[in-house]
Amino acid sequence: MKIYNTMSRQKEEFVPIREGKVGIYVCGPTVYDYIHIGNARPMIVFDTLRRYLTYKGYEVNYVSNFTDVDDKIIRRANEEGVDASVISERFIAEVKKDMAAMNVQEATVHPKATEEIPDMIQMIETLVEKGYAYEVNGTVYFRTRQFKEYGKLSHKNLDDLRSGNRALKVTGEEEKEDGLDFVLWKPKKEGEPFWDSPWGAGRPGWHLECSCMSKKYIGDIIDIHAGGEDLIFPHHENEIAQSEAANGTEFARYWMHNAFLKINNEKMSKSLGNFFTVREISEKYPLQVIRFFMLNAHYRSPLNFSDELVEAAKNGLERILTAYERVQEAEEKAADKEISAKESEWMERTDELVKRYEAAMDDDLNTADAISVIFELVKLLNTTLDESSSKAYCGKLKTVLRQLCEILGMEVTREKELLNEDIERLIEERQQARKQKDFQRADDIRNRLLEQGIALEDTREGVKWKKI
Ligand code: AMP
Ligand code: ZN
Repeated sequence: MKIYNTMSRQKEEFVPIREGKVGIYVCGPTVYDYIHIGNARPMIVFDTLRRYLTYKGYEVNYVSNFTDVDDKIIRRANEEGVDASVISERFIAEVKKDMAAMNVQEATVHPKATEEIPDMIQMIETLVEKGYAYEVNGTVYFRTRQFKEYGKLSHKNLDDLRSGNRALKVTGEEEKEDGLDFVLWKPKKEGEPFWDSPWGAGRPGWHLECSCMSKKYIGDIIDIHAGGEDLIFPHHENEIAQSEAANGTEFARYWMHNAFLKINNEKMSKSLGNFFTVREISEKYPLQVIRFFMLNAHYRSPLNFSDELVEAAKNGLERILTAYERVQEAEEKAADKEISAKESEWMERTDELVKRYEAAMDDDLNTADAISVIFELVKLLNTTLDESSSKAYCGKLKTVLRQLCEILGMEVTREKELLNEDIERLIEERQQARKQKDFQRADDIRNRLLEQGIALEDTREGVKWKKI
């Protein structure tokens, strides 16, 4: 398999460090709110990478963190007057629900920053001992000048960045030796969670957690490090500096970065009002459709989210599911007879399609091409199946179609019927939307329920629902 490595800016043949095994580290979300649909892109893309490597026979150790101590979490906790852990635990649970609905498998380990503090302190101590870090007034900084290869991943011109040195120093950081130096440990502030350390009470810098967790759960060298492209600089550059300086060895072999998801060709932002959470989108579309929509593009291409494009993905997925239903029924009815000469030819064509699918996935996870191969299989199925088809031929098509979909994390059977508790939840969310005068969202929820054959009736005693 070839993987585009951000480090070399080339596609490279994937060779694992340990034969038959792959360690993947994906930077996870900061859990201060529901995840938005942009956050869903790396989750879906790298879950697909994991599924494909597993299909190829690798044992995959997939590690993805939850950043559960951060300014935004602390701010929200203070607003609600609760402990930061109440906020992070609440949203970890919500993120896990969204992941499950998108068919994103749980990681082998989902470490949390707050549970790894002793390891982080230890790594800082190593960096201080080796001359890669220094302390000023309770803050410990990484000394970037000491790490000669700083900038190798982002290919940035550091002299240019340094000439803007002053601009890089934010208030309170005048004490830094260099504008590019970054925080490893910061002293405690009033109303913030803190831990004791050799440099006084405080909390770790964000970049450090990934260096420590990947070391602990995968090893000093990891095979694939992944995340969104905004993380290349400074986050991943800083992770490399910390890990390579502390461990004295290469940090990650392959760096994979997904391009951004935009909405109606604009950057997603709260102020533009084009910011959607996965949860909101789930009221409009089954998340299976969103997964399929995302995989219709190559992960390194920017992707535009619009109702039109999602509708197109929904129709495409519908064609695949209908074909699967058809082959399932055909298999049940088919006679247990010898395969015909024609069928044996079509079975060879099916094998060729599998090879082309694999070639697409081997080419830097080209899911867009892999999906077009699935459509070719659907076409073959639609044009060759009839009452005279043998059970063996139907069975072959069915198994192959299911497998090619499942590698992408697509379930071939139609969405399961909504459970009563799902219906109650959607009704509750619709009531909330109406209270907030968000009638569009309320309508979306009503329509989504209607699609599932659930009609709502507003009565004096509240909202009633019935199956139609
Ligand atoms: P954050 O919680 O901001 O650290 O983001 C979690 C992950 O989502 C990171 O890998 C980000 O790069 C990724 N991400 C954030 N916004 C987008 C977007 N609009 N499109 C694609 N990926 C994104
Ligand atoms: Zn990270």
